[in-house]
Amino acid sequence: MNYIDTHCHLDGEEFAEDRDAVVQRAREAGCTRIFLPAIDVKSCHTVLDVCAHYPGYCYPMLGLHPEEVKADWRQQLDDIKGLLTSANCQQPIAIGEVGLDYYWSREFEQEQLQAFEEQVKWAVEMQLPLMIHCRKAQNEMVAILKRYARELPGGVFHCFTGNEQEARQLLEFDRFVLGIGGVLTFKKSHLPEVLPASVSLDRIVLETDAPYMAPVPMRGKRNESAYIRHVVVRMAEAYGVSEEEICRQTTATAERIFHLS
Ligand SMILES: [Zn+2]
Repeated sequence: MNYIDTHCHLDGEEFAEDRDAVVQRAREAGCTRIFLPAIDVKSCHTVLDVCAHYPGYCYPMLGLHPEEVKADWRQQLDDIKGLLTSANCQQPIAIGEVGLDYYWSREFEQEQLQAFEEQVKWAVEMQLPLMIHCRKAQNEMVAILKRYARELPGGVFHCFTGNEQEARQLLEFDRFVLGIGGVLTFKKSHLPEVLPASVSLDRIVLETDAPYMAPVPMRGKRNESAYIRHVVVRMAEAYGVSEEEICRQTTATAERIFHLS
């Protein structure tokens, strides 16, 4: 079983004590690459540090997460743009994670919209894919993406948990795909029905969102890239194909979206 974890916060302090062991378990489980999203300026640096430590295995994505959009967002964006364009920085494979999140708070609603649109423009300028986080804001996000759809190289709607109609709306962006992780295995999840009904297998990439979203039977524990096999098993059941086929297609899709081979 060989797969790519397209969204893992491996730079988080949750992994400070045993990061080497976590990476070793991922390799043994068949995880061939791990993509790390940043959430703010500070984590851009920790993401780059961790990726430099595992060259050819861990890949950085840089951006300002919607929940980190606060009063200082313009300064944060300036600093992140500086990192993205700096010659001595490891080449990031995507802008992320970026998006809109009105789940906890709408305090910085306008700022979130502006910060997201600014980073969408970077994706166009640099022709880098977007790693998109969106909660309780799909219509607002789609409205912004539509303005740039023709010029955007593609991206991932990370941690998709919506219904068939929402899946179809997102997949109208034909160079974009859905990121699917532990939620697929949760008892109350509708994804095992929603996905086969509305999403073809070549529009899905695998992700952990570790340390969050651990799949059943690890639910509630710290998540890690090795646990993706539980997601693969459930996805294979849902689509009625082999686990190898899930791995083959999601890996090919991740390589296509992120321009790796
Ligand atoms: Zn994340």
